[in-house]
Amino acid sequence: VPELKPSDKDNDGESKESMDNTCGEKADGITEEGERIFCQRCYNLLYHNKVVTEEWQESLSFDRSFLSFLNKKKDAIVVTVVDIFDFPGTLLEDLDDLIGVKNPTILVANKMDLLPRDVSETRIKNWLKEKSEKLGFRNIHEIFLISAKKNWRVRELAQTISAIRSGFDDVYLIGCANVGKSELVNSFLRSTVVGGWKHEVTSSPIPGTTVGMLGLPLTIFGTTFGHNPRGFHFPQKSRYLYDTPGVVNGKQLIHLLTEEELKMVIPQKRIKPLTYNIFPGKSVFFGGLGRIDYVEGDKPVRMTIFSRLKSHITSTQRADEICQSMAVGDKTFLEPPIFSIKRASPFPPMIKGKKGYVMKGIPGTMSSKDVVFSGIGWASFGGTFDRASIDVWSPHGVGIYIREKSL
Ligand code: GDP
Repeated sequence: VPELKPSDKDNDGESKESMDNTCGEKADGITEEGERIFCQRCYNLLYHNKVVTEEWQESLSFDRSFLSFLNKKKDAIVVTVVDIFDFPGTLLEDLDDLIGVKNPTILVANKMDLLPRDVSETRIKNWLKEKSEKLGFRNIHEIFLISAKKNWRVRELAQTISAIRSGFDDVYLIGCANVGKSELVNSFLRSTVVGGWKHEVTSSPIPGTTVGMLGLPLTIFGTTFGHNPRGFHFPQKSRYLYDTPGVVNGKQLIHLLTEEELKMVIPQKRIKPLTYNIFPGKSVFFGGLGRIDYVEGDKPVRMTIFSRLKSHITSTQRADEICQSMAVGDKTFLEPPIFSIKRASPFPPMIKGKKGYVMKGIPGTMSSKDVVFSGIGWASFGGTFDRASIDVWSPHGVGIYIREKSL
């Protein structure tokens, strides 16, 4: 966007250094006059300290077509990475149509280190499979639950990729911004490299800052990736592992947030659950980004909350007042959003993304379903209720999902 030059004097007095989380060299260019040209996202970060504008969010939601080159390839392995804490928000819709079904595809759910220890991996895999199929991604060869940060199962993933490679395939990592693709590349390097590879790929907490297509020769992975069934130690022709630019999915709640707010939302370590008994007529807030109203039901429900954000329980009437204050930009004790932060457009109001959703218990037995705020956390519903009707709110009403079986 050449018309947006850093020379524009509208940087709100913020120092450049304090905000330089941009994709920097990889995203921008230099004009003949020697001025740096920034992508829209980096420009906003540098000169407005803004992460996203609504229009831009909308336009970026479509910015995934570049992945269609995979549709024409016959010799690729596609590794689709999602963030288990922001699923299905981080799954690109209609992937089968976009990248085709000719190439083997592995679904990798990253950041497993954030989930409680006792979650059922079978249930997670079922949820991933079921949701992916609904969202147009059926061509899944295998599902891996990993932590790139902790190197969990990364070696096994590398071995599986190696096993399905014919010895001549490039490997492409694809996925939304911030799912941990760069961290996964680093983890591959840490887990499989022979001979001390010194370079690290930049991993950043700001979504959308991995830009450009990074290609690592597969031979640097030594025998794990370099095995060639024809008997050569390494493929004769260089083959690559490509880290592709993260696609910004407009449906992700985290794209509404600034860097400061993201730090409050994204967990850095395993989430500790909190359990409450909730009666009809009560509402539960997840900071100012999620709200569940227990509208009517026969018994109290046991709600276990998994989120980094503070939960707050109040009457539904009071919850309405709080949401009205937030809608006009008044500061409330529920953060984020932080209303003192300047934004391109007002923070979207909380609205009901699901209205009158009925949870049906099986009489006499404990029920367990989850209401998921993708990227924010989830509430697990338990108890021996027969019927519980709920309303679920979020900014713009986006990012809300029901998981039929609790993790
Ligand atoms: P990319 O945009 O997909 O390349 O994502 P990055 O690799 O830059 O990672 C985005 C953020 O997620 C960074 O703050 C990482 O530290 C964090 N992250 C990546 N992998 C993991 C993981 O396995 N666990 C946790 N807890 N955080 C991770």
